[in-house]
Amino acid sequence: MRNILKETQPDDFGIKLQKSFEEEKSYYLRGDRVICLSENMREILCREYGIDSTKISVIPNGIVDQGFWGIAGHSSTKLTNHERNDAVIRMRKKWKITPKEKIILFAGRVDEVKGVGYLIRAFHKVLESVPRCRLIIAGSGDFDTFMREAKDICTKITFTGLLDKIALNELYQIADVGVVPSLYEPFGLVAVEMMMHGLPIVATATSGLNEVVDEACGLKIPITALSDSVEIDISDLTQKIVYLLQNPAVAKQFGHGGRKRYLHYYTANVFQNNMLQLYKSLFQPVVYGRIRTLIVTGQHHHQWKVSHVALKQILENSGLFAVEVAISPKEGSNMSNFKRDFAAYQLVVLDYCGDRWPEETEKSFLDFADNGGGVVVYHAANNAFRDWKAYNQITGFGGWEGRDETDGPYIYMKNDQLIYDKSPGSGGSHGARHEFVLHCGNPEHPITKGLPAAWLHAQDELYDRLRGPGIVDEVLFWAYSDPETRGSGRDEIAMLTVNYGKARIYHTTLGHVGSTLTDNTAMQCTGFQVTLLRGAEWAATGQVTQPVPDDFPTATTGSLRKDYKYEIRPLRSE
Ligand SMILES: [Zn+2]
Repeated sequence: MRNILKETQPDDFGIKLQKSFEEEKSYYLRGDRVICLSENMREILCREYGIDSTKISVIPNGIVDQGFWGIAGHSSTKLTNHERNDAVIRMRKKWKITPKEKIILFAGRVDEVKGVGYLIRAFHKVLESVPRCRLIIAGSGDFDTFMREAKDICTKITFTGLLDKIALNELYQIADVGVVPSLYEPFGLVAVEMMMHGLPIVATATSGLNEVVDEACGLKIPITALSDSVEIDISDLTQKIVYLLQNPAVAKQFGHGGRKRYLHYYTANVFQNNMLQLYKSLFQPVVYGRIRTLIVTGQHHHQWKVSHVALKQILENSGLFAVEVAISPKEGSNMSNFKRDFAAYQLVVLDYCGDRWPEETEKSFLDFADNGGGVVVYHAANNAFRDWKAYNQITGFGGWEGRDETDGPYIYMKNDQLIYDKSPGSGGSHGARHEFVLHCGNPEHPITKGLPAAWLHAQDELYDRLRGPGIVDEVLFWAYSDPETRGSGRDEIAMLTVNYGKARIYHTTLGHVGSTLTDNTAMQCTGFQVTLLRGAEWAATGQVTQPVPDDFPTATTGSLRKDYKYEIRPLRSE
């Protein structure tokens, strides 16, 4: 397809294809926002259509719950295990399936792209290990081809043709394993339906489907790319189906995992909320009087999908900031369409650690800093871009990624003095996560003014042995890195401002992100949130207009804002 689009002298089909491609592309370019169903589609839109990645929102489809908790023909109240078993037995009877027969279910269009041929070939071998099983292929399509392939096991395969929803739901509920062997799948709605019904899945690790199905819902089959096609290893597919059929306890676990994942990401309610949020965000950047802010994220060894949401909520809930998020393409993929004009913002928050940005994006960022822009460096953003000197001058110092004495001196505190220590050694580490006390380095700075001279931070990583080529402007807070918690034994700088031309840079090494927004202690700490808000306002405007809140931690008592909410100025939207 790509080749046809590039063809300079296309045939009739090529001309048609090129024309419809250009037409489609022009629609995307004209829109303010493009919605797609998966990260995989986002990448295609960026790479093939040249759409600015920050204009694209990924919102997966959601479906109304018809799982066995709301079983077809029953009330939607949750069934007990016993009632569920009874219902399954009744349904198997209705479908004339004996209690001991195992059911493998495929649902979808019957054609080669859906991997039906591979599944039938694998099923030949499955029968050798598990003779008492049946493959149900639910859907319409190219029956002739596949029935021929299934001829010698035709008593074991059922082609149902197109089914109505109720019948299909019943099959999901009586099946033992669901198989989604697609070669390509922009999203993977069938997998979502299987998860909804708590059905363990064997699926190919391809395109959008690979994002929908994770390790908690089932087993994955890698796709082998050949020069002009892809294929699936049939013995691998066979083994994984057999494994789930022979290990019902594991299969059940996957079923539960899938159901949980469905409830979390793919219900109609989640979809509705995502859409509403998107529509609301369309009207946000023009909100009067708030600081125009851009969070950059999308690649990280940390959970950026959690951290950038927490950062956004902290900033927006205050009423001071209008936040947009720039999400880069995935690590290792083509970055050339990751473009942002930083000049449109007053504040850039860095929550990114990954592949280098395209040259013009990096230049736009440096121009932004050179022109006096505000920058917040958050936690492991100081791990990023070891080989980009100007970036390291902006962050001041950083760690990991092989940093050593060639990247600049260690920067820390000793007896209240700032030390630049050129001794050799690796840069960046932290001990065990623990609560620790932060000490103020300069109580007169707008960011720290009025805050306690010492306060107890919630459990977090305390970065130590950071080194870099930057110049520290002010040490705002430091903490003793105790060897007892595997620290450096030094007074490490946890919050600082950096001297880099006209730019105003606030750097916090704190706030290691948890696995979810609710399990995120370090970022839920009131001290982290208040200093972030103050640092961000100062970076954007040079002032801090925020009063010191009543719930700030003291030297001995911690404080959490679990929902990231604290309104400083009422939200206005004129
Ligand atoms: Zn961390």
